[in-house]
Amino acid sequence: MDGLTRLGVAGWPVAHSRSPAMHNAALEAVGLEGWRYQRLPLPPDLFAEAVRALPAVGFAGINVTIPHKGAALALADDATAAARAIGAANTLTFATDGAVRADNTDAPGLLAALGDERPRTAVVLGAGGSARAVVHALRSIGASVSVWNRSAARARSLAGEFGVEAVQDVPTADLLVNCTSVGLGDPSSTFKDLPLEADALGEYACVVDLVYRAGGTGLQREARRRGSRVIDGVEVLVHQGALSFERWTGRAAPLEVMRRAARGRASPDDDPRARPPVPAPGPATHGGGGRDGGHR
Ligand code: NDP
Repeated sequence: MDGLTRLGVAGWPVAHSRSPAMHNAALEAVGLEGWRYQRLPLPPDLFAEAVRALPAVGFAGINVTIPHKGAALALADDATAAARAIGAANTLTFATDGAVRADNTDAPGLLAALGDERPRTAVVLGAGGSARAVVHALRSIGASVSVWNRSAARARSLAGEFGVEAVQDVPTADLLVNCTSVGLGDPSSTFKDLPLEADALGEYACVVDLVYRAGGTGLQREARRRGSRVIDGVEVLVHQGALSFERWTGRAAPLEVMRRAARGRASPDDDPRARPPVPAPGPATHGGGGRDGGHR
């Protein structure tokens, strides 16, 4: 053991994650020299067993991303009310007695990214894992929420669960949140895949697009062009990461440092000192953790 206190992000795949760059910059900025944050590529069938082994090799906590957010909640000994309501955890904290506590900082991260903006009405596009966190967050501030999804049955199911409205035609509202993965790929398909015309974007005072990709998305560009306030996926990532950071370290998160690192191209996480003594779980015959996502 090297005496480091370790944090990380578990996903499959996780190579694209900006979290290591963002958190290592934050750890350095607040002077936590013996801490490192690293990628943990864990396939679903090894997830639960590997996570259980992490505290013994110096881990204080981890972020969890696709497809493990549901499995993370399922394996935890204790979970916040928000994580339970959303049905997914993106943050696990390991107590000294080995207990695993699950939290969801995606929802408060969205509200923090909105800042003083408190929409009375909101449209959420998508009904996957991130949409659940977003709908939960918006309901918690009393917004009236309409949910649209490509698969309408899924929108109806989510709407029924959270007490909001499922729609097929998207109304105008104070806030539009894109929780679909539309925009990750070909920008020219954005307004074919989403139930919106670019010209309608000006009717939303604020547009949040959870997707993050270098150069931004078509939705972000067109909304900005029409005068909406635009919050991109990196900004939401920074705020959920800041909340996780504060839970693990007890320190105030250096937001501007995290923002710069998340938006930068360099990846300080590739520091070889950060390489894990990754626990080697046994053969995947114990049935642990194989739940895929479950955060839908
Ligand atoms: P899920 O896989 O749980 O859900 C994907 C959603 O996208 C579903 O509603 C799906 O609709 C919809 N979708 C996919 N392809 C299309 C398409 N071609 N046209 C219309 N709808 C489509 O993913 P998540 O909710 O976890 O993530 C969604 C996006 O948000 C991803 O890009 C992810 O990277 C990003 N994200 C960003 C975060 C941040 O901090 N910035 C945090 C979490 C996620 P259907 O049900 O019909 O398949």
